[in-house]
Amino acid sequence: MKNIKDYTLEELKEQLVQMGEKPFRAEQIFAWLYVEKVKEFEEMTNLSKELREKLQKEFTMCNVKILQKQESVDGTKKYLLDLLDGNAIETVLMQYHYGKTICVSSQVGCKMGCKFCASTGIPFVRSLSAGEIIEEIIAVEQDTGERISNVVFMGIGEPLDNYDNVIKAIRIMNHPKGLNIGARHISISTSGLVPNIYRLAKENIPCTLSISLHATSNEKRSSMMPVNNAYPIEELIKACKDYLKEGGKRISFEYALAKDNNDAIGDAKQLVELLKGMLCHVNLIPINPIQNGKYDKSSMENIIRFRDYLNEHGIVATIRRELGSDIDAACGQLRRKNLNKGEEK
Ligand code: SF4
Repeated sequence: MKNIKDYTLEELKEQLVQMGEKPFRAEQIFAWLYVEKVKEFEEMTNLSKELREKLQKEFTMCNVKILQKQESVDGTKKYLLDLLDGNAIETVLMQYHYGKTICVSSQVGCKMGCKFCASTGIPFVRSLSAGEIIEEIIAVEQDTGERISNVVFMGIGEPLDNYDNVIKAIRIMNHPKGLNIGARHISISTSGLVPNIYRLAKENIPCTLSISLHATSNEKRSSMMPVNNAYPIEELIKACKDYLKEGGKRISFEYALAKDNNDAIGDAKQLVELLKGMLCHVNLIPINPIQNGKYDKSSMENIIRFRDYLNEHGIVATIRRELGSDIDAACGQLRRKNLNKGEEK
């Protein structure tokens, strides 16, 4: 059955016209879905009973169920959500001084195989539809009763490997009659799928692009992220420069520091060389060790030294606050635990 949250406003208008209805009904439905956030068609009381029944026959509302919820002492909440087909995805809600930020998943599993990621080893199942991504936000807003002001695509999955659905989800969340979240408050994180960075540059969506860089030589980056074999650093940086050329777009680079791997001053020096002349920001992240993973967290002393070197050499760098470290907040950890439990049964 079709998911009503998979449609942009324009597409929903077309659907209604095909059903013999007036297009303005789509705006009423959008308000019920994204302002009132109702769970059933019968709650859409300004639509006729006949139309509500037609909608019921034609579409699902794709309401996801919360299977599990973990809450950190710092206020971070991690959800395991049950999709209609029985697959489970993770969504994390973080509390920053500027508002609530949700970290959404874009796929069930991930194909990219980054060596530091808890999703690696969990088989890729499928990409999420636009409506399923939107539903992550709605489910968490309903659970907390609070509005989410920022969205980051940093959960499970490579968002640029699910390009069309992610772009559509962004259009729905960004639309003033949708979830009304400003494009500047939306960030897409990619492991570096170069062709789709060029595509994204051409979209009229000024969201922030966040590049998971993590190393400055192809040898080291390929050992951490197999995607680098297909799209090496030089090609990635070229695509980033192209993205920045398009007006009003911003880039940040994610750099997870692992002890004795990529956290030496020599690495910081190479990073300065690589990013020279680009208007960007570097987020330094103490790597989150995963079960049976080969990377250990860098010491805070090293991380501070690394940050200071970048800042002293003209690259704006900050250390990301570790949120939810007591609740498996690294992507894939909760889902992995749940799968393991299933296997033990
Ligand atoms: S870090 Fe992101 S892109 Fe890499 S394997 Fe994990 S979910 Fe996929």
